[in-house]
Amino acid sequence: MAKTTPNHKLTVSGWAAHDNSGVITPYTFKRRVNGPDDVSIKILYCGICHTDLHHVKNDWGITMYPVVPGHEITGVITEVGSNVKGFKIGDRVGVGCLAATCLECEFCKNSEENYCDKVQFSYNGIFWDGSITYGGYSEMLVADHRYVAHVPENLPMDSTAPLLCAGITVYSPMIDGKLHESTGKRIGIVGLGGLGHVAIKFAKAFGHHVTVISTSPSKENEARQRLGADDFIISTDPKQMQSKRRTLDFILDTVAAPHSLGPILELLKVNGTLVLVGAPDKPLELPAFPMIFGKRVVKGSMIGGMKETQEMLNFCGEHNITCDIETVTPDNINEALNRLEKNDVKYRFVINVGDKKASL
Ligand code: NAP
Ligand code: ZN
Repeated sequence: MAKTTPNHKLTVSGWAAHDNSGVITPYTFKRRVNGPDDVSIKILYCGICHTDLHHVKNDWGITMYPVVPGHEITGVITEVGSNVKGFKIGDRVGVGCLAATCLECEFCKNSEENYCDKVQFSYNGIFWDGSITYGGYSEMLVADHRYVAHVPENLPMDSTAPLLCAGITVYSPMIDGKLHESTGKRIGIVGLGGLGHVAIKFAKAFGHHVTVISTSPSKENEARQRLGADDFIISTDPKQMQSKRRTLDFILDTVAAPHSLGPILELLKVNGTLVLVGAPDKPLELPAFPMIFGKRVVKGSMIGGMKETQEMLNFCGEHNITCDIETVTPDNINEALNRLEKNDVKYRFVINVGDKKASL
């Protein structure tokens, strides 16, 4: 059991799941007082990521209950520690998945602190003082300023919140794949949910041809007309999949459930790359032949570093990229989680944490 240190003196209201039923109820807990490297943030909005659903249901077997989920946070700074530079009271900011990293390893030094072996996340992590981290389904947050980003002035706080996880998670592998360096590539996005819909927007902003690979025929019109996809194929229709063999340079797989990678790999050209960002709880089927016959690469990617997160937000500010959201009050978090589980959201729920009607 993680110990709670004496400086955890702030009483904070939030919402937590207490067991793997995943049901969320109001929950009062303690946070640390603002330290020299910290900023305190009044939370305005928090996105509901599928990772929150994995955690409240203990899909990955790692949940420490009670869990206060939420790592797509936007809000306003209310207090600034003495060592903090670059932030002041009143600043509009965002916090994503990162709560702490060692700051010394090669990854931390190379602005890839998301791959630090000692990384601690915004919720369900164990902070340096031994306390369990609690996320953004709450009225306020104390965060080390090194894991806080500025929200560009022209971006609304509600539809920006999901960029802090969904946005950076799909942006980072695209930069890693050098998709920002040349245009006209053929990109596939598997799964049109929270991550997938932002991925279309980034791929289009980088000037590429985008094919959505989906299980939901009902999403086709919107994908093409509102989100800007060029092509849309149904992954469960072997004929459609066959007709697009060897057409794509790069595929981002955002699917949250177990599925076979074989048919998806067949869509790649020779030497193409499939990046997994979706995190199903069971191993995926990875047949050897589509890899061998096409010299194809399968790799993974996890969120992004803070430097890249700020670059991503600035890019969104310049290109007016935000998420397509449905806002819910804190009273409706359970209904939103149930609908997310049923693939019934276009394309991200965002909790209006500051909604006064809510039963805090
Ligand atoms: P989401 O909004 O639920 O979207 C996932 C999409 O996958 C769905 O909209 C659906 O799209 C498709 N899908 C769902 N069930 C499927 C099934 N059984 N077979 C095939 N496709 C299915 O979830 P999200 O918030 O985007 O997150 C997606 C995954 O990424 C989660 O596992 C999450 O934990 C993970 N994640 C990873 C990172 C990282 O750093 N790597 C960061 C954030 C989230 P269609 O209707 O179009 O088929
Ligand atoms: Zn997330």
